[in-house]
Amino acid sequence: MQRLKPVDVVIAGGGWVGLAMAKEIATRTSLSVLVLERGPARRLKDYAAGMDEVDYALRFKMMQNLAEETTTHRHSIGQTAAPIRQYGSFNPGTGVGGAGEHWGGLAYRYLPDQFRLATMLREKHGTRLPADLLVQDWGVTYDELEPYYWQAEQMMGIGGKAGNLRGQIVEGGNPFEGPRSHEFPNPPHKPTWLVSRFNQAARELGYHPFPTPAATLSQTYRNPDGVTRSGCAYCGYCLRYGCMIGAKAQPTNTLLPVLTGRKNFTLRTGCNVRRIAHREGTATGVTYIGESGVEIEQPAHVVILGSWTLNNCRLLLLSKIGEPYDPATGKGTLGRNLTHQVGTATPIFFERPLNAFMGAGALGATLADFDGDRNLDPSMGILRGGQIRVTSGGEAPIGSFGRIPPGETEASWGSAWKKAALKWWDHASSITSEAEHLAYRQNYIDLDPTYTDKFGDPLARLTLDWTDHERRQAEMTIQVQAKVGKAMGARIGNPARRVAGRYSTVEYQSSHVSGGVVAGTSPENSVLNPWMQHWSIPNLWVVGASGFPQNSSGNPTMTILAMAYRSADVMIKRYFKRPGSMA
Ligand SMILES: Cc1cc2nc3c(=O)[nH]c(=O)nc-3n(C[C@H](O)[C@H](O)[C@H](O)COP(=O)(O)OP(=O)(O)OC[C@H]3O[C@@H](n4cnc5c(N)ncnc54)[C@H](O)[C@@H]3O)c2cc1C
Repeated sequence: MQRLKPVDVVIAGGGWVGLAMAKEIATRTSLSVLVLERGPARRLKDYAAGMDEVDYALRFKMMQNLAEETTTHRHSIGQTAAPIRQYGSFNPGTGVGGAGEHWGGLAYRYLPDQFRLATMLREKHGTRLPADLLVQDWGVTYDELEPYYWQAEQMMGIGGKAGNLRGQIVEGGNPFEGPRSHEFPNPPHKPTWLVSRFNQAARELGYHPFPTPAATLSQTYRNPDGVTRSGCAYCGYCLRYGCMIGAKAQPTNTLLPVLTGRKNFTLRTGCNVRRIAHREGTATGVTYIGESGVEIEQPAHVVILGSWTLNNCRLLLLSKIGEPYDPATGKGTLGRNLTHQVGTATPIFFERPLNAFMGAGALGATLADFDGDRNLDPSMGILRGGQIRVTSGGEAPIGSFGRIPPGETEASWGSAWKKAALKWWDHASSITSEAEHLAYRQNYIDLDPTYTDKFGDPLARLTLDWTDHERRQAEMTIQVQAKVGKAMGARIGNPARRVAGRYSTVEYQSSHVSGGVVAGTSPENSVLNPWMQHWSIPNLWVVGASGFPQNSSGNPTMTILAMAYRSADVMIKRYFKRPGSMA
């Protein structure tokens, strides 16, 4: 094996986490920082050369190649897991920028009570909580994270409307959010007809709609790092595409420009990290396979994993760091608290055309009236709800073709179906929801005993299924979606009942898989301390949604980045001066 010269900090993964950590450390210290990214470089000019629905949205051009590495899934212990061979319930990214290149740009913060969920639920429900529930407090509060949320929002130039400014409720924003220290860096996008209709209907029903916080710029913006990006052109090529003009915040158009050219920063692409090298409680670097196919050892004083939820967990399992979780005994912490999200969608149809081919991935409106534990009907037996929203995100013509309201035609093919599909093209949208997914003892990640990746390493195996709690959450959000849709004057289609039966890897839900390497208050219940630092290997930091003890409603990236900035800050202010545990 080839052995390279040591670096101060090596980071596995060049997505939002990897490049945010690199940018903080490389610009605020003189330490040498190396990012190893398994995928290719990504450049604006590649995106500007043209976007194509077939390549990007239907054939997943920017995603991990599942023929080289995938994940296996089973519903319960005792079953044999099967490999996910086609893209379905989530879409992991690859290449510089990671999934942050092809994300939608919805940029919510989590509710303050999310960070002390276990305590809150115990206070409220006591012994009536399900016995298999494994929710936990994070060991960090919303107030501690707030400055780092603000840092991430400024870096991206998030557009939105504050609903709670330093404790004052502000008209037009989300009145249920945690206090913000600042108004958003940019105004929200102007609402489309569809979004205005949603807002009006929701208000008539007594709800509190607010503009969805968007990482796609509503106007030209220069961020505190001096990076200027132009406002959105509403071309509609957002979700699953890289932005052609750089209006959507992506790691390559916000963080990479600051890092490029710095002497203490190196980015190596085509480098697949396989193990964290460690000896006697200290990480000594990583080993990876480079573009030439040669295995290389990269010594480092500090190792940071930023390779996304499943890869972070798998790398620790492969490197034999920590005790793998055993659901039968409850022993071990590595792999536990695997969660996804409870996604639902209700199609809505209008007589007038929507011009839905235009838009931006995050141009929309959201309701948080059923988020957290707000307005939950006690007879439904639900502990936590979710957000409800509508998005004018750009409906691509092939993928969204064929939506027809019930009663229009019985046919599902042939000329009658084609006629109806053409009539309703551009008259259809949907109201969607992502509800919280609580952690349970039986849902976890370990290594598959049968299937391997192209290098012969075991794949990550997900043991994951819904419980009746998620099925009830889904019913609740579908009921609200239909109520709002009717108030909008829409014809209501059959809702996507993704959560009605068993967990399905076939249908897209969201790419917000979390857990496996969770942060917490004690090594008994977590792998990381609240700084995302490994409890027993202090020079190993594992950053990203792998650290989330359970899954919140809405999208995770702003919380991922807030946690990353907080980790980087403590490293720079304390850890690099006096290495050791920060807990
Ligand atoms: C289609 C889609 C839409 C989304 N929309 C939203 C949204 O609207 N709002 C929101 O908040 N979130 C959204 N997300 C989620 C968001 O993209 C992620 O939360 C975010 O990208 C996570 O950042 P990360 O750096 O942890 O992981 P990633 O972005 O996945 O980056 C990890 C990087 O690590 C690399 N890597 C992995 N393993 C290795 C290895 N062994 N060696 C070297 N490199 C490795 C990968 O190639 C990748 O580049 C979306 C995701 C998808 C897929």
